[in-house]
Amino acid sequence: MKKILIIHTGGTISMQEDKRSGTVSTSSEHPLSNSASLFNHDAHIEEDFLFNLPSPHITPAHMLELGRRIHDKLAAGNFDGVVVTHGTDTLEETAYFLDLFLQTRKPIVVTGAMRSSNEIGSDGLYNLISSVRVANTDEAQDKGVLVVMNDEIHTAKNVTKTSTSNVATFQSPQYGPIGIITKQEILFHQKLISYESYPIQQLTKNVALVKAYAGMEGSLIRAIHSTGISGMIIEALGQGNVPKDILPALQEILDDDIPIILVSRCYQGIVQATYMYDGGGRQLRDMGIIFANGLTGPKARIKLMVALELTNNLTELAPMFE
Ligand code: ASP
Repeated sequence: MKKILIIHTGGTISMQEDKRSGTVSTSSEHPLSNSASLFNHDAHIEEDFLFNLPSPHITPAHMLELGRRIHDKLAAGNFDGVVVTHGTDTLEETAYFLDLFLQTRKPIVVTGAMRSSNEIGSDGLYNLISSVRVANTDEAQDKGVLVVMNDEIHTAKNVTKTSTSNVATFQSPQYGPIGIITKQEILFHQKLISYESYPIQQLTKNVALVKAYAGMEGSLIRAIHSTGISGMIIEALGQGNVPKDILPALQEILDDDIPIILVSRCYQGIVQATYMYDGGGRQLRDMGIIFANGLTGPKARIKLMVALELTNNLTELAPMFE
């Protein structure tokens, strides 16, 4: 029988609703602890209560601690798969960090809930059971970190929270889920074609994330620059263009040897150096801005934080993103 470790970190899946006020908050005892007896499958379950935090309180330091905990537990050799319960707000950032940090073939599944444990139609226990079933499946190996919610299996790299409250919130807009969960089966229909992993010891770099908008001026970029950042992510317009007024401020950042990574604020499609006008993608790439494909702004930020622990040399950073 396989051994699956569940690591709890908090989030709505660990919360309860106050029936009078309708507010949702953390409870001292995890409402799903010891539910293992309800899991109708062949796995031995062990639980670890690492944090009890709403996910907006999760920091990169927590992510690294969680990554180390998983690494150590797997290295000790006695688990076949791991399920992490997490708040949904920053779930995709933690899942993607784990994807970059861990070097394992074993299934690592991250899950959460949109409705707390005592709400009607709560999805917490259901998602937890689905996640344990996925982690207990041989086919879930070699797929990187997975996110399981609402009968779907997504890759940590592609998944994003798309709705504030709908239980079908987690989607992979560009590619769809890589598998589905039915009452009887776990069905994968996509393979992972690339895998990357970065052996880092710390996660300390300050990387800012900025969204471009019509009429944007350089003052905001300069203000952020003056805080002492190690890198900047720009969620650019369309295929990778920005308002021309921010160009001098971006150049000042590059002149300080601070890397700028560009993604699109569109949630589908890729960024490419197409346009030659002022602020167009071709000009940005010629300035030395790195184009990153297939990542949202928050995930590009996690990746740059990880990458900067290894190098801040632009020539070494570029191939990690392009
Ligand atoms: N605000 C909650 C959190 O991320 C939402 C959730 O868990 O679904 O902690």
